[in-house]
Amino acid sequence: MIAKTTASTATSPVGEVGPMLPYPARVVEIKEEAYAITTYTLVFEDEALQQRYRFRPGQFNMLYLPGIGEVPISISSDPGEPGRMGHTIRYAGNVTRAISRLQVGDVIGVRGPYGSAWPLERLRGQDLCIVTGGIGLAPLRPVIYDVIRHRADFGRVILLYGARTPADMLYTDEFEAWEAHDIQVHTTVDRADARWKGHVGVVPMLFYHIRLDPKRTTVLTCGPEIMMRFVIYEALARRIPQERIYISMERNMKCGVGFCGHCQFGPTFVCKEGPVFSYAQVEPFFGVEDF
Ligand SMILES: Cc1cc2nc3c(=O)[nH]c(=O)nc-3n(C[C@H](O)[C@H](O)[C@H](O)COP(=O)(O)OP(=O)(O)OC[C@H]3O[C@@H](n4cnc5c(N)ncnc54)[C@H](O)[C@@H]3O)c2cc1C
Repeated sequence: MIAKTTASTATSPVGEVGPMLPYPARVVEIKEEAYAITTYTLVFEDEALQQRYRFRPGQFNMLYLPGIGEVPISISSDPGEPGRMGHTIRYAGNVTRAISRLQVGDVIGVRGPYGSAWPLERLRGQDLCIVTGGIGLAPLRPVIYDVIRHRADFGRVILLYGARTPADMLYTDEFEAWEAHDIQVHTTVDRADARWKGHVGVVPMLFYHIRLDPKRTTVLTCGPEIMMRFVIYEALARRIPQERIYISMERNMKCGVGFCGHCQFGPTFVCKEGPVFSYAQVEPFFGVEDF
């Protein structure tokens, strides 16, 4: 069931759209980013809700298709325009494939935003090193938009980004604008094509092409878990403390609000205490030294 617009939605707190009840949102834009990866821009049908909705970079929404199911998807759009919620989705299984059949004008259920966020307010004045692989750039794109909006508040900002092939890279049409705002973009691919002139190899290797000041750098990373393990390893090797390394975790989840326990991660739930954790929080059960 998707909720109708009610008086209760008009009085629910800013950014909190009921705990388990999805609200109808219309698909207003669809953009193919790469093979089997598409960004859907959604706007709540209820204008008051749309006006009130806020999210913080790193948070996610639960997207619901009646009769099919519900999935957690990061919000990949600009937190400065919260009424237009972007979701960059890779088609993986039942629900995401059903989402791939949506057209502009179709309606989907949305509840959220949920989860923890990248601690950007606390990182003002620092250098940021954003390290991502594949679709891991989606929950970090709002960080880049926030940095651009408050560029003078941050020091050096570096993006290290890797994809399987050049065709798998997301948001490439925005790189120039990011660089124009003094965000250094370093890219790598696992497999080059004839036109690729950049690096070939895994993302953590890009650390060897930059210099970081460990006293003022915070690392934000999202991607496959094996990639994040090596990113943490490279960051620690450069004397960046555990407290200034942040990761975004993915686990199968159902409720999104800490009821069902599907996404338990050590003593925490990824949906509630995460998905963004400092490495210092999760080190005992993330265990970089394991590999
Ligand atoms: C906090 C959070 C944020 C996410 N953000 C995004 C995003 O921005 N874009 C995006 O495309 N996906 C994102 N995901 C992953 C997305 O939720 C899953 O791909 C989706 O639930 C798959 O559902 P499905 O019904 O299409 O596939 P299913 O039929 O449920 O599963 C297909 C396959 O994927 C596996 N799987 C399902 N969920 C996960 C998961 N969370 N981690 C690892 N394997 C899984 C299943 O075990 C199965 O093998 C996020 C997940 C979390 C927890």
